[in-house]
Amino acid sequence: MRYVSTRGGQHPLGFKDAVMTGLARDGGLLLPAEIPYVAPRLPAWQRLSYTDLAFEIMRLFADVPEADLRDLIDRSYGTFRHPDVTPVQSVDGVHILELFHGPTLAFKDVALQFLGNVFEYILDETNRQLNILAATSGDTGSAAICGVRGRDRIRIFVMHPHGRVSPTQERQMTTVLDDNVFNIAVDGTFDDCQRIMKSLFGDLAFRDRHALGTVNSINWARVLAQIVYYFFAAFRVMRLTGARRVQFAVPTGNFGDIFAGYVACRMGLPISRLVLATNENDILARFFNTGDYSQGAVRATISPSMDIQVASNFERYLYYRLGEDAAALQNLMQQFASTGRLNVAPLPDGRIDDLIAAGTGNTAETLATIREFQAKTGYLLDPHTAVGVHVGRQFLKAADPMICLATAHPAKFSQAILDATGKDLAHHPILAALGDLPTRCAVLPATDAAIRAHLERNISS
Ligand SMILES: *Cc1c(COP(=O)(O)O)cnc(C)c1O
Repeated sequence: MRYVSTRGGQHPLGFKDAVMTGLARDGGLLLPAEIPYVAPRLPAWQRLSYTDLAFEIMRLFADVPEADLRDLIDRSYGTFRHPDVTPVQSVDGVHILELFHGPTLAFKDVALQFLGNVFEYILDETNRQLNILAATSGDTGSAAICGVRGRDRIRIFVMHPHGRVSPTQERQMTTVLDDNVFNIAVDGTFDDCQRIMKSLFGDLAFRDRHALGTVNSINWARVLAQIVYYFFAAFRVMRLTGARRVQFAVPTGNFGDIFAGYVACRMGLPISRLVLATNENDILARFFNTGDYSQGAVRATISPSMDIQVASNFERYLYYRLGEDAAALQNLMQQFASTGRLNVAPLPDGRIDDLIAAGTGNTAETLATIREFQAKTGYLLDPHTAVGVHVGRQFLKAADPMICLATAHPAKFSQAILDATGKDLAHHPILAALGDLPTRCAVLPATDAAIRAHLERNISS
């Protein structure tokens, strides 16, 4: 498979180069030159195990010898605590797709366990080193660290805003003591971390000298890993209910997770609707309801991994929405860069998209959903998942079964569970064990110079 840029200015790359590059040289995002259509193969795939299904899907996109790809997949999902990797639970009229059985209890493990192995595989082959620089507001940092800890050819530097991530999230990162893991608590905000990251990546000489790489959700390997569970869950739920099509509700921040569902649908998986759910940071919900994508200020909520205004993967969707017209896309993105907004005209039926519907769950609705669900069924939803369930339920009537993506284990957000239910119900032994462990973390000022010096010191030693 060859990979092209959404902005049309990158000569096609193979899978390995696409994974190592992250962003295209013309500033666009990489996409497969064509999306394989697999509908005729679905009957044969229906009863495959998670890893066998992952192999069938990933081999269509990844030019890696079959035995190597199988090994990468087996090692990536061998760290999950459930034999189904991403099991489905049917609770109170919806089907909960549990994506949190990986080592850090958030759905990001599905992609980052795989990405860590793919990075190492490519680096071994080419005898290279990689220095990953990441900025996190919480979940991405621990999943990325967990994906690459202990690997010889990789160092990872993760910046988080000092004192502004939850104590659990902080300990999940700083208790990892492997030599190749460098936690940095930046005396500033998450925006400061992102600004520093952009600035260091913008210095091309620095970036090339130190072989800097990223793990954020624009990396195609992350999207690829996430496509698999849409197929897996759809097969399970179609078999369980006899339905011929399914819907998905997806708690959304950077549009990475739901974009994987969009690709699955284009591959021929019978999805009748993708429900995009946001918290108060609702730029995407507004877009899919009105066609207007306009940036506002980020508000802090109880579902922090969705506190995002500019969704990094949205450009990939827009590319298809504009009929794969790279020039038109480039115009829109330039307009957005200069004005902070862009518009897309509705389809003839008045909708913005015939697959994606969208809605918002605010803090009160999220807490109420957690409380009611727990009271009625005993099942605990984390606040991100609850946003998805709240919005997804609005599309239940006389329609196909609804699969709600559960993106984090509730114990990661135990304070929200306490606030919602009045009870201290959310625990997990992995998180409980972190309290006693030693930690390592450098506290640094929020300046380019401080982070740059820290990287240089630790890369050369
Ligand atoms: C990252 C994250 C999301 C949002 O996923 P996107 O791919 O950014 O849309 C939702 N829930 C949790 C728990 C997350 O960590």
